Amino acid sequence: MGWLALDDTDHLGGGCTTYSMFELVRNLPSGYTIEEYRLVRLYPFASRRTRGNAAVAVKIVGNDYAELLGFLEQWWIDKLLPLQGEITESEQYNRPQSPTDPGMVWFHDRPDEEFYWQCVRNEVSVEKIPTADKSWGGHGRIGATAAIAWPASSYTFEAISWRKQDSVNKSSKRQVDLNLLAIIDEHPDNFMSRDLRSNSVLISPRGNCPVLFGLRSRTYESAKTSCEQLLQSPNTEAIEGYVVFKTNQATDDHLNDDMDGTVDEIQIKKRGTVKITCTNGQDLMAFSESGDIKNLAQWLKPGDKIQFNGLTNDDGAIHLEKLRVIKSTPNQRRPKCIPCNVTLKSMGKNQPLRCPQCREKFTQRWEYVKREPPFEDWVQPPADSRRHLSMPLTW
Ligand SMILES: [Zn+2]
Repeated sequence: MGWLALDDTDHLGGGCTTYSMFELVRNLPSGYTIEEYRLVRLYPFASRRTRGNAAVAVKIVGNDYAELLGFLEQWWIDKLLPLQGEITESEQYNRPQSPTDPGMVWFHDRPDEEFYWQCVRNEVSVEKIPTADKSWGGHGRIGATAAIAWPASSYTFEAISWRKQDSVNKSSKRQVDLNLLAIIDEHPDNFMSRDLRSNSVLISPRGNCPVLFGLRSRTYESAKTSCEQLLQSPNTEAIEGYVVFKTNQATDDHLNDDMDGTVDEIQIKKRGTVKITCTNGQDLMAFSESGDIKNLAQWLKPGDKIQFNGLTNDDGAIHLEKLRVIKSTPNQRRPKCIPCNVTLKSMGKNQPLRCPQCREKFTQRWEYVKREPPFEDWVQPPADSRRHLSMPLTW
């Protein structure tokens, strides 16, 4: 029948776009079925982005369009419109928060995928949205439309479960069977459940969001089975429900092709953050939390040829998400007098070198020593500071 999508219904104080959709679907009149649930992450630098910067969409199958539209109209007025203008100040986020401006759209047919590519790689304004068959609200219509326009040429899955309203209200600590999660995490299709390096659990959000956990997987089957296993454990709290979403997470859809550059200058800043300036003037940032990217960036020297990828910030600098060394410039040093095992000394500019011990002269002024990079291939940030959109390197 068509596609329904929502965005921008959440704010720092609460609310959650996935839960808004779950509630809506649960209350649909009888006679409608959902063929696909989608969770689509958008441009990570969008100025008005919501917390996870994700929009949700569903494909609805049914017969009575007029009835469905009547339901949606009422649902919008009762449940979504009241969220407009919600804003919460938080010291945890230093970015200014925009008030919630929910949007809901209905399309009989998916709009051109070009709009999705715009929305996942750039800032898009409300004027650019393709015309929906029916739409409600404000800024949230951008992400909502993008979620429907997503061609899903590559995708993964995320099974999201929501807490009982009572647990959300009480803000009680989330109960998830972490021993079982460790086993589930071993499944080859599941990914980003835990960060073994920092020993952190990545499936549960913090704060008063209604999500209990989101389990990511490369296949629908594994997402569903693993989620159900976790939910059946007596050590996991009771839930309101769960849904397996098809998502653009871990697809690298936000990135263009890899770029090449030659290092001109390296500046190491606070907390080990590195600013790399390339010979063409392009600045690259490797932030302290980017792990091996930062480690590799700190090792670089002028002349090194590198390949990289990332998004361009407002100031024109690229925030590195992938980095590798193509060719390193060798270190140069004075050769040694082999019999004496002493480093030769220069006798002046363009003069030969001389051994300070046996006084013999040498015409070779330098020898070159290859610098072996600490990582042979691509590096990326550790799982707990990687973007939802980033594809793990091992894939
Ligand atoms: Zn000598």
